[in-house]
Amino acid sequence: MHRNIEEILITEEEIRKRVRELSQRISKDYKDRCVTFIGVLKGSFVFLSDILKNLTIDCNVDFIGLSSYEGTKSTGIVRTVLDLKENIQDKDVIIVEDIVDSGLTANYLIHNFRTRRPKSIRICTLLDKPAARKIYVPVKYKGFSIPNKFVVGYGLDYNENYRNLPYIGVLKKSAIKKEDLCQ
Ligand code: 5GP
Repeated sequence: MHRNIEEILITEEEIRKRVRELSQRISKDYKDRCVTFIGVLKGSFVFLSDILKNLTIDCNVDFIGLSSYEGTKSTGIVRTVLDLKENIQDKDVIIVEDIVDSGLTANYLIHNFRTRRPKSIRICTLLDKPAARKIYVPVKYKGFSIPNKFVVGYGLDYNENYRNLPYIGVLKKSAIKKEDLCQ
């Protein structure tokens, strides 16, 4: 285990098993259709890549870059820092998120994408923190519900670190910069 991790919440094996199940469900739900997966950068890239490897349907992939977090705190203001490359009109879209926390990001994306007139939009997230929700989000595919703790690993970062950890872990308080602990 990494020296700055206090506790492993979800192991590599648990993630592998659950991601395979989600991929199978998506493949079944969209049988004989082509799905456009939109990965929300950067946190979803590991999850998205594992979802794709287990799919048995055809798919396209695109990315959107958003920013609302600084350190361990959400600023509450979502900004697009990189837009989609492809046109999603008449496409079956699945938005792939690392984690739905307040729900503001997912809500922003659904409203933003609806204006581009896709055929359908669904949300797939590896993690869900229901206790932190500020706005309702219709999550169709969910990996795990977790407590309201700041987690890293499997694509999720703290100030750009820890994305490479193969598990989901809780950071030690001592590894979080002091100013982040003050409100
Ligand atoms: P929301 O808009 O739902 O509050 O937050 C979504 C984004 O916040 C996620 O895509 C992720 O980048 C970031 N986020 C929320 N909770 C956590 C967390 O526990 N750990 C990390 N690393 N990022 C988080």
